[in-house]
Amino acid sequence: MTTFGPVPEPARLTIDVGGGMRGRTGGYDKRLGDMTGVYRDGEAHAGAVTERGADHLVYRVEEHRAGDGPGALIIGTSTLAPGRYGDEFAMTRGHLHAKADRAELYHCLSGRGVMLLETLDGRSEAVELGPGDAAHVPGYWVHRSVNTGDEPFVTLFCYPADAGQDYALIADAGGMAQLVVDDGAGGWTTRPNPDHTGYRKDAA
Ligand code: ZN
Repeated sequence: MTTFGPVPEPARLTIDVGGGMRGRTGGYDKRLGDMTGVYRDGEAHAGAVTERGADHLVYRVEEHRAGDGPGALIIGTSTLAPGRYGDEFAMTRGHLHAKADRAELYHCLSGRGVMLLETLDGRSEAVELGPGDAAHVPGYWVHRSVNTGDEPFVTLFCYPADAGQDYALIADAGGMAQLVVDDGAGGWTTRPNPDHTGYRKDAA
């Protein structure tokens, strides 16, 4: 039998394709200086910091939370600025959910990009997203957004409020196993990251 805790309030959220969310309860920004160590080409990233400043905005999350119990959802937008660091496209830090079985939906509102997905035992998928496309990220998949276009890559996301994020997993592994890079012909491709040492198997 279901036991009832405090009943959260419903909400009407107005979300524009540029990532703005009316009705949000919070969010955060990531700046160029926060991304040190994320890109394989550290010199290219350092050059960008020198050129644009450590405070240059690269990534914004706006989100709505109505509770943090096991049945609650976090609904939000992710807006990732375009860019290149060496041949790698601009991306988020990426994570595995701290409760690793928790899934997530990403629905592209504008721009173009890739959801890069990896399992701890070495499987990789790159799901290409344009406006109207959605990616279902099942539990147990490490995931990050990559902007492969010239405009902001904006997605609407939704995931369980108790999922949490393990960000250290990727850093501890020398980065994700695959890099999303310029293919030299105006598109993107993936290639193995030679610095990747494998994920901690105890993460999940
Ligand atoms: Zn996630």
